[in-house]
Amino acid sequence: MNPAPAGEILISSDDLSKRVADLGAQISRDYAGKDLVMVGVLRGAVVFIADLLRSLDMSCEIDFMAVSSYGSSSDSSGVVRILKDLDDSITGRDVLIVEDIVDSGLTLNYLMRNLRARDPGSLEVCALLTKPERRRVDVPIRYTGFEIPNTFVVGYGLDHAQQYRHLPFVAELPEDVVPGPGAV
Ligand code: 5GP
Repeated sequence: MNPAPAGEILISSDDLSKRVADLGAQISRDYAGKDLVMVGVLRGAVVFIADLLRSLDMSCEIDFMAVSSYGSSSDSSGVVRILKDLDDSITGRDVLIVEDIVDSGLTLNYLMRNLRARDPGSLEVCALLTKPERRRVDVPIRYTGFEIPNTFVVGYGLDHAQQYRHLPFVAELPEDVVPGPGAV
């Protein structure tokens, strides 16, 4: 299926590259000499974590989790199911969750509680995008790429109905495409 063209571009490919490079530099400074494990949240964070990883000045491990929310794709319920768990133990290690977007914060809140119970040495969050207006639970985000308004976005890994992930920029969803029910 070929989806409708994406709507207005909110963040250009150039702006994404620059910001990701800044985040990589900051993370490299903060985690120098530490045992960093970046945990990517599938599937939306795949493009972001791949670029972030290449912008680091240090070696680190990566691992992935996949979760699904019982809400619709535009409205998270906070009831989260783990579809894929980490492959390795994080006990005593410095863990950085890498998320595509924090909306209500409910998914991240669940993930943080779940990972904290495994006794990591430290646990922080790096989110490419956040929508502060939509927040329903306060989650500490150590590294933020961009704050965006309350609008549904696609591109740079973010999808609607599994489409649009390939776009090298972040764009609003076309107005005639309404997010339907589905997994996060
Ligand atoms: P939260 O639990 O914070 O409400 O939802 C987080 C998840 O909802 C994100 O990881 C993402 O999968 C999905 N999501 C929230 N807002 C958007 C959006 O604007 N675009 C896309 N593609 N997904 C979103």
